Amino acid sequence: MTFTGSVINVINVISSDLQASLQQVSGSASVLHFDPIRIVLLIAWIYYCMYCIQRIEYGPLVADRFKPAANAFGLIIAPFILFVLFVRDIVKRVQAGEIEYADIPRIIFNLKLLKTQRKASGRRFIQLLDSAGKEFFGTEDSKTADADRHILNAFEDIILDALQERATDILMDPKTDGFHSVRYRVDGFLKTVQEIEAENSVPIVNSIKALSKMDISEKRRPQDGAFMARVTDGKVSFRVASSGVLGGEKISIRILDQSTGILKLKDIGLSKSKYQLVANAIKQPSGMIIVCGPTGSGKTTSLYAMLSTMDFYSRNVITVEDPIEHVLPEASQIEVNVKADITFATALRSILRQDPDVITVGEIRDNETAAMALQASQTGHLVLATLHSSSNLSALVRLMDLDVKPLLLASALSMVISQRLVRKLCDKCKEPAKLSEGQIERFKSKGIDPSVIMQPGKCKRCGHTGYRGRLAITDVLVINDKIKALLTESNVSIGELKKQGDKKGKSTLRDDGLAKVYAGLTTLDEIRRVTSNLG
Ligand SMILES: [Zn+2]
Repeated sequence: MTFTGSVINVINVISSDLQASLQQVSGSASVLHFDPIRIVLLIAWIYYCMYCIQRIEYGPLVADRFKPAANAFGLIIAPFILFVLFVRDIVKRVQAGEIEYADIPRIIFNLKLLKTQRKASGRRFIQLLDSAGKEFFGTEDSKTADADRHILNAFEDIILDALQERATDILMDPKTDGFHSVRYRVDGFLKTVQEIEAENSVPIVNSIKALSKMDISEKRRPQDGAFMARVTDGKVSFRVASSGVLGGEKISIRILDQSTGILKLKDIGLSKSKYQLVANAIKQPSGMIIVCGPTGSGKTTSLYAMLSTMDFYSRNVITVEDPIEHVLPEASQIEVNVKADITFATALRSILRQDPDVITVGEIRDNETAAMALQASQTGHLVLATLHSSSNLSALVRLMDLDVKPLLLASALSMVISQRLVRKLCDKCKEPAKLSEGQIERFKSKGIDPSVIMQPGKCKRCGHTGYRGRLAITDVLVINDKIKALLTESNVSIGELKKQGDKKGKSTLRDDGLAKVYAGLTTLDEIRRVTSNLG
């Protein structure tokens, strides 16, 4: 073996290790291996380095006065080559869209972690835990241990793939031909990822139910449960719901990934002026801010983003949530548990006795919760809540439907934020939109440079959809004196409310969406899709 030959070998070894660790970060295939052959190769390489230094030191090739420099060079060059290769590999992957620059510290950190978390089989790391945090090994019958392992592996793969795809839900639906389809919801869109034949799908469904502490023999009545998993990036919680449907049992798994972190208020997509309005409202000692929108419009994300700006040391923050999606170490969080008689209303009642400054109500669903939340706001607390409604004004109407007196609304409510989520164009592959002459003219007549309009492309990073991640479009309604006066008028008319709201709200959801299109962040199609039901 020549010197160069051995160097190339070692480089290959190191770069394949690196590749493995990068794959671990991006979620697929293998992990770091330090097998004996690689260790022998490394030792051989070090031996060659020492040998070369010996030759330099005692040979006639280099003049005496250059020998220290030549030796130092011989020692430094190897780590330098490794460093260059490492950087080259990372840059290549960033350019290919497989990872982002932000992932690099995690890659370096993972290089250390992988060795301890590696499984003997070389599978990706995942450890299933029940809701109490105990490790789950499948059912206890030892005769079927192998079959159980096979089933658990299949289930673990489904979870790992879902996490890698940034899915928020996993749905397993029985089909009439005996198969179960597995679908992931990514950025609000469902995609079918695989179909599992009945002989495997039924045991998978059973182990999910066992893991989530559900009754396996009950196949028709709806049940719910929870479990957790430890993966390379940390712990992930899962909420499971099952119910009997035509053809078998349907399982829905909601993924509550703590490692994705909480978005900052400035990152949820508020324009500068709206950001100021919201940030001001949060700073007030009392008042109530309601975030409204349909299911899956990112209300909870906005609520957490608002909480993230809170000074937890000077304010006592208590939340009631269903479920707790992110752990806030400095806040007191209460999870709704109907079986244990912890509802939004009962929890809220107990919170008010604990001298809170800020109260967060996961969702206002009933009149008792609505009345208590508004009263809390009136008695000097800041209340943040979400409400299921389609627009700011329908949120007011909805609260009145819940028997809240308009007078109470006027005095307690400070702001309503209505929002929708649009998919964000993938930064890697978005390209200038191909517009027709007519469209270009129209944009120009509005004073908009048509070259800023983007359209989706295709790349590996976004799964060839052209979109990656989501962005909120918002309509912020400040309950000012005019609206207060309107609310307190004896016969409040919904039509009048809407008129005032439209006049006051500087831009509607659609305008806010268009601003995002003109910023090259999303597309007209997306705005149309999410605002089409607004009339
Ligand atoms: Zn892309």
